Amino acid sequence: MGTPLETRAEQAEAVVDRLEDAYPDSTISLRYTDRLELLIAVILSAQCTDERVNAETEHLFEKYDGAEDYANAPQDELAADLNSITYYNNKATYIRSACETILEEHDGEVPDTMDELTELSGVGRKTANVVLQHGHDIVEGIVVDTHVQRLSRRLGLTEEEYPERIEEDLMEIVPEGDWQQFTHLCIDHGRATCTARNPDCDGCVLADLCPAEKGDSEIDLASGEPW
Ligand code: SF4
Repeated sequence: MGTPLETRAEQAEAVVDRLEDAYPDSTISLRYTDRLELLIAVILSAQCTDERVNAETEHLFEKYDGAEDYANAPQDELAADLNSITYYNNKATYIRSACETILEEHDGEVPDTMDELTELSGVGRKTANVVLQHGHDIVEGIVVDTHVQRLSRRLGLTEEEYPERIEEDLMEIVPEGDWQQFTHLCIDHGRATCTARNPDCDGCVLADLCPAEKGDSEIDLASGEPW
């Protein structure tokens, strides 16, 4: 039986507290050693698993060192070096173009503002938020990926469907000091328990708070469809 707390802010705080207990070491799972590697890993991770990205970047980051290497790489060669990643051709184009902009307009450094980051090819608000948080220690939003999107809807924290609208709702209710961690906690719980197709509500630490809990709700609030 899942009954959400009275306000969304109370619900959000309770979700964070419980998930922090459940996943005390929750953090980003992409591997990188500097800001450019982080940016590239996040571009590659769109609609691809972090595990696959980490496997591919292991050799990529040995071969390419710095924005110049990527900007000067022939398109076919860079695409071939990424060929186990979804949409590798497009992503190779984005990376080459983003690195050209970084060289021409930012002295070879990954920029540190939302506006400058989102002007780079292949970089939307989600990617920019990750780079700001983990590359520059600047937290100005909440990263809304597919797990955050699904869990926030199931847990009654938002009724919005699109990531940018979900982010606006979450920023009003999640304590600011938890904005970065909220994403990692949702990702861990989304992978371990609250999976897209078959969430394990019986084994879930949030079951008593969750209005989508399968024993209580006939509807998956993430999709609006019956369980
Ligand atoms: S696993 Fe079930 S109870 Fe837990 S958050 Fe997901 S839908 Fe709610």
